[in-house]
Amino acid sequence: MYFTRNSEETALFAASLGQHLLPGDTVLLYGDLGAGKSVFARGCARALGVKDEMASPTFTLMQPYKGKNGVNVYHFDLYRISDEDEFFASGLQDHIGTDGVSLIEWPQQADVCPESRIEIDIVRAEDFDGREIEINIFGMDGREDEILASLRRWERK
Ligand code: ADP
Ligand code: MG
Repeated sequence: MYFTRNSEETALFAASLGQHLLPGDTVLLYGDLGAGKSVFARGCARALGVKDEMASPTFTLMQPYKGKNGVNVYHFDLYRISDEDEFFASGLQDHIGTDGVSLIEWPQQADVCPESRIEIDIVRAEDFDGREIEINIFGMDGREDEILASLRRWERK
């Protein structure tokens, strides 16, 4: 369990993770509306060298960005999707786990859950700006330790 005291800290936490992400990696972002999923996605993208402002992709399910060394960063927000079929019909799932880093808000809306993934769960703490953040890493071929090591400063004691 990790803890951040404000949105800047959440962005820094996300950037620490973002530094380790490679094309083909997928980050699934769970949490209620306003939990900080978009703040987290921006922090990751910044660390990957995305310079553009990242607006919320309100009417698009996915917004692509370019990071350093031409890395593709795909920001998905599946909040408005009604079912898995609608998402599959969009063809956008082809980007997940392939040619870029995918940062996916509301993955459960379309049952997106690749075998190799980093799950982030953000929960509002009692203190208004605090957030408890849980991270679970699956199928990343021994990269877990390196990633978790870079997040130690945010560990809740
Ligand atoms: P989501 O994408 O999960 O719906 P957003 O990232 O768009 O949520 O919004 C989170 C809001 O909560 C922002 O206004 C942000 O400034 C605020 N906030 C306050 N404290 C935190 C924190 N510790 N981490 C992330 N966001 C925070
Ligand atoms: Mg959001």
